Amino acid sequence: NSGATDAKNLRVKLVLLGDSGVGKSCIVLRFVRGQFDPTSKVTIGASFLSQTIALQDSTTVKFEIWDTAGQERYAALAPLYYRGASVAVVVYDITSPESFQKAQYWVKELQKHGSPDMVMALVGNKADLLENREVSDQDGMEYAEKNRMFFIETSAKTADNINQLFEEIAKRLPRPAS
Ligand code: GDP
Ligand code: MG
Repeated sequence: NSGATDAKNLRVKLVLLGDSGVGKSCIVLRFVRGQFDPTSKVTIGASFLSQTIALQDSTTVKFEIWDTAGQERYAALAPLYYRGASVAVVVYDITSPESFQKAQYWVKELQKHGSPDMVMALVGNKADLLENREVSDQDGMEYAEKNRMFFIETSAKTADNINQLFEEIAKRLPRPAS
């Protein structure tokens, strides 16, 4: 389901999951438009954006990004977005242990109902707020490792590790035989 146009040009459906307010929409906006809007609006339902990146080996990857709303009342809709997705990015806020708990809930959901060959990333966002950190990078890393996920800490505000997140995902995608 990693929809490939050919071996050199991949097209992938990516879904972002995580508690409301962790910065999912800001991560997408930073990646797609290179911007940070501190007044970003709460996502209703889900929104869609796409962005293509070129890798060193001249492969291109077009990410079709579904940015979901984190609110409980939309939780029942989540399977519509992660079903058929080849990549899931689960986001928490490093200043919020509750959001880390919520991230673990999403990982379990994906393990139960997602596609078994899904590439999964765990993202600790708001890494610029170091003085307010309440989830250690060690905890994030260990959880990710146990669940065979790629782990990274990002800041949508400063752009730290945002491109790296998507590049690392791209490298981990299963490649169609050429
Ligand atoms: P979402 O509900 O997960 O989509 O979260 P948003 O992207 O709407 O962001 C929620 C709030 O967190 C907004 O006020 C953002 O300005 C703020 N925010 C998002 N990313 C960062 C970040 O990396 N650092 C800081 N300091 N604030 C952020
Ligand atoms: Mg949002």
